[in-house]
Amino acid sequence: MTKENVSRFEETLKKKNCFQFQEYCQRNNVYSLLSQINNTTKNGEVAPFKTLNSTFADMFSDVLDFYKQLDYGLYEKLIMTIDSDKTVFKHSEPKEKGGVNFAGTHGDWREIVLNPENTINGKVVMTHEFSHALSQRIQEMKRPKEDCIGEIESKFIEYVYYDYLSKNGELSEDEYKNFVNMHNNTLKSEATYILQENDVLNILKQIGPFDEKSFEKFDDIAKHDERYARNYGPIMRNLEKLSNFENENAKASYYYRYVVGELVGRTLFSEYKEEFEKTGETKETIGKFKKFLDTGADINLEQAAKTLLGENYMQKISKEFGIDLPKTK
Ligand SMILES: [Zn+2]
Repeated sequence: MTKENVSRFEETLKKKNCFQFQEYCQRNNVYSLLSQINNTTKNGEVAPFKTLNSTFADMFSDVLDFYKQLDYGLYEKLIMTIDSDKTVFKHSEPKEKGGVNFAGTHGDWREIVLNPENTINGKVVMTHEFSHALSQRIQEMKRPKEDCIGEIESKFIEYVYYDYLSKNGELSEDEYKNFVNMHNNTLKSEATYILQENDVLNILKQIGPFDEKSFEKFDDIAKHDERYARNYGPIMRNLEKLSNFENENAKASYYYRYVVGELVGRTLFSEYKEEFEKTGETKETIGKFKKFLDTGADINLEQAAKTLLGENYMQKISKEFGIDLPKTK
């Protein structure tokens, strides 16, 4: 992510009053905003962002239809979760510009907050949040032990939903291709940076509060490790710009989670497409996905990736993106 992008989405967050929301929600809105900004800046009024004039109920039922057609078991589980006494479900009518969307736990409650944009993208966001609601972690009111696995289900389901929209004619073939290309380019260029930034932040955590001595201390650690030394200069300069390191730290792990989620989810989606081309079905891939959804909060990144992609998950991701998934903690 470039400096320019950082300040651009900070501005957009302010415009959308996102800073008024509680911290936890704030973090969960940033990456999706970033991709919107990239997209609208480059392509103007592209299909996923054109206003639909749908009601919330229309969008809701479209998204439920998608789940029903994808897998009836998932659909039933989703309905049960939405109807549960333990689920607080908040929404407002879709606006042209969406608000905060969130699915997670809040004390003893599952909380699903939906304020979607009145666009196809708004439906994608709803589909995304519902995928979290299907996860066993949320059923158990727990956050994952390894934070970076938190967006795997949602990034996979976003791709599956786009595929569904293109099969249903809601997106044209060209619009669908543009979407896939855009995501591939964004992911390749930004994942490398964000994975390195995560390395840098891990060192900074060891160093303690961010101050003028941090660079020196960082040098001392990094010079012994070629992996950290590779590209930390520009990353440190970006971080330096931000007065509150703790805040940046939280934000960076937020991006990191989305990047890991997309690397794994997008690779699984390739297998989903491949299975469909070979057999006309997607049962095997969806079976792996359901197995992953059923794992609890204690699973680590390696176990998650193996459940979804098998023993050679590293090679699969590397082959797809030319990027190595970080080793599990
Ligand atoms: Zn999410």
